[in-house]
Amino acid sequence: MAHDAPQGGGPSKLVIRNIGLMLSGALEKPILDADTIIAENGKITGIGRLGDFDVEGATTIVDANGTTVAPGLIDSHVHPVAGDWTPRQNQIGWIDSFLHGGVTTMISAGEVHMPGRPRDVVGLKAMAIFAQRAFWTLRPGGVKVHAGAPVIECEMVEDDFRELAAAGVKLLGEVGLGGVKDGPTARKMVGWARKYGIQSTIHTGGPSIPGSGLIDKDVVLEADTDVIGHINGGHTALPDDQIRCICEGCKRGLELVHNGNERSALFTLRIAREMDELSRVILGTDSPAGSGVQPLGILRMVSLLSSLGEVPAEIAFCFATGNTARMRALDCGIIEVGRAADFVIMDKAQHSAGKNILDSVRLGDLPGIGMTIIDGIVRTQRSRNTPPATKVPEIIGH
Ligand SMILES: [Zn+2]
Repeated sequence: MAHDAPQGGGPSKLVIRNIGLMLSGALEKPILDADTIIAENGKITGIGRLGDFDVEGATTIVDANGTTVAPGLIDSHVHPVAGDWTPRQNQIGWIDSFLHGGVTTMISAGEVHMPGRPRDVVGLKAMAIFAQRAFWTLRPGGVKVHAGAPVIECEMVEDDFRELAAAGVKLLGEVGLGGVKDGPTARKMVGWARKYGIQSTIHTGGPSIPGSGLIDKDVVLEADTDVIGHINGGHTALPDDQIRCICEGCKRGLELVHNGNERSALFTLRIAREMDELSRVILGTDSPAGSGVQPLGILRMVSLLSSLGEVPAEIAFCFATGNTARMRALDCGIIEVGRAADFVIMDKAQHSAGKNILDSVRLGDLPGIGMTIIDGIVRTQRSRNTPPATKVPEIIGH
């Protein structure tokens, strides 16, 4: 396991050339007409044709070999605990395995699987600050884990949110996993969080494991969190009429998760499309979970929504990249000058019936990953987890 601090070493200049297809991650223009990306010191500085750039001084040159480059995938809903270990399924190395599924950024929806998790106010604040610090310092495989997401309890007062924000906490864990399960209390605390710049999400649907509870549409709409966490349930979904009410009753993010109800995910997608609000759709796995840890979970969601939800594959990739980045104010997720040089390089899986990578995803297959890059640094080459890519990129010079 490679453990990397947030910043790399000295100055770096990455050139990725011979790109066959460039997916931007941005819904308004999901495919870019370009074959080369330049990134300096971890940020994208150029997108265009090879001839347009001075590649002098490159510290790494990647020949994409005609394959597809997309922004690194973002998992909007994970439950990390400590380092690259999860007690939920007693597994080590799960985050590194997700990197082999193209995930370069993860967002914590609460460190709720911590054995002996404190529920008193001082204890839950301390744990959130600890998790934020620990995952900032330690990036398993290079993956950026945004953690430190306290689960709110009824005894909290406004000053607790001010104190958490001042200490660097930027997220709330899923509202509803702690003692706060009613609309008015949730709304008051979500408002405090928002006032101090802390983003919020909520557990939607039936209880996921013994100890969690039902959160229905009335509580979801009253709480008014920034993201409607797993609107397709985690696993138990709300009835369709309630899902429709939530989609139509607010403008917040609609998060679809792998560890949820697939039919409800497709139902939500259909409503978002009818409303012409696909920019609200973001993806997560909600893992580790009772059903395990899914390193390919985000890719599987992209493929599910594209094939059964009848969304072009290049649009479905936006749900896992640019949509999430914009909603969560991240500097990654879109191939655009100035953003983080976080990429996944993919191709059609060997023997897929699809004509090309987009067609193969549209047919329900997963793409094969040939390389991941975070902050302009190559982190992995051919994935150990995806079906093998037909063509893979190569590092041709340093
Ligand atoms: Zn949940």
